[in-house]
Amino acid sequence: MKRIYLDHAATTPTDPDVVQAMLPYFTDSFGNPSSLYSYGQEAREAVEEARARVAELIGASSEEIVFTSGGTEADNLALKGVAYANEHRGNHIITTSIEHHAVLEAAGFLEKQGFAITRLPVDGYGLVDPRDFRKAITDKTILISVMHASNEVGTIQPVEEIGSIAREAGVCFHSDAVQTVGHIPLNVHELKVDLLSLSAHKLYGPKGVGALYVRKGTRLVSIMQGGEQERGRRAGTENTPGIVGLGKAVEIAGHETAEEAERLRRLRDKLIGGMLDTMEHVRLNGHPTRRLPNNVNVSIGFVEGEAVLLNLDLEGICASTGSACSSSSSEPSHVLLALGLPSEQAHCSLRFSLGRENTDEHVERVLKVLPPIVARLRAMSPLLKSSR
Ligand SMILES: *Cc1c(COP(=O)(O)O)cnc(C)c1O
Repeated sequence: MKRIYLDHAATTPTDPDVVQAMLPYFTDSFGNPSSLYSYGQEAREAVEEARARVAELIGASSEEIVFTSGGTEADNLALKGVAYANEHRGNHIITTSIEHHAVLEAAGFLEKQGFAITRLPVDGYGLVDPRDFRKAITDKTILISVMHASNEVGTIQPVEEIGSIAREAGVCFHSDAVQTVGHIPLNVHELKVDLLSLSAHKLYGPKGVGALYVRKGTRLVSIMQGGEQERGRRAGTENTPGIVGLGKAVEIAGHETAEEAERLRRLRDKLIGGMLDTMEHVRLNGHPTRRLPNNVNVSIGFVEGEAVLLNLDLEGICASTGSACSSSSSEPSHVLLALGLPSEQAHCSLRFSLGRENTDEHVERVLKVLPPIVARLRAMSPLLKSSR
């Protein structure tokens, strides 16, 4: 049975060209980029070339890119780095209730250290209201953090508008763009962000490497103490093969993002439309149009999301309930609850996230196997009977 992978929001397969680009930096060019002899300098050049590519993809300049161990570290560096650098000016941070755990937990940590956190709500589609930010800003506000698009429900936030508000108020603005970099064209100047997180393994690069864009002039302290790497913003010997892999992944994405996004949007809408047509009690979660090209998140009434997932797995289809992080616990996803879904609907949610290898046939296969699975589970469900 051929596997159909539909969980690209959790991670993507590493592009074979990315793997090839990385290999020499494990073996022939293994030098430390900080060393002065030529071995080290080869590695240094490769790191700097990758930095230039990442900068180019998002419209930044090279010195504004700080390599990290991934999206989680980029988010932590943004929140803690800005908070500690601006402590003397204020202690207030504004974020939303639907952020990734890397932002939510970093904010929670800062709260315990004495920072004040405002977590703004979202509407039924998962959208924040920019006017809420204007109202929430005080003279103590030092940072706003809003994700570009939700890894769970795919909703794309009005980041530009929030950026204008932040700029007007002189407040630093961070966006977690892990789900959008390499998936939809974006530019840090248009988005009006001061900091932006990205991660290689969400764009066909390797796991364990990412970057934080830090606009020139943004005050940031390092949260890692040690060497002077990354202009003193992130201590630790550079992950040369990983960084080279990120550079290659970004180069490939740069060539195909717009076209691929269009292709995925069509597959996405075919999958959504097909599910709504073939099954009763299906509801799309997230915004119908302001959504990631590859994200499908539905609640399928009167079945357990996990039961559907396991049955799809038997058919070789990989999907997810909520986010990868919350699916190992049986707590409903904080994002779906923030959208106002009752907990039964949050429990019966399924996420399919499409990617490069997916085709029309994959979507058709899901549409063929899913309705009978749901019908079988519903036939056994006491929930449906009691509702009738
Ligand atoms: C995956 C993800 C992260 C975490 O990135 P890692 O590289 O896995 O640490 C952060 N934010 C969002 C929105 C994500 O999807």
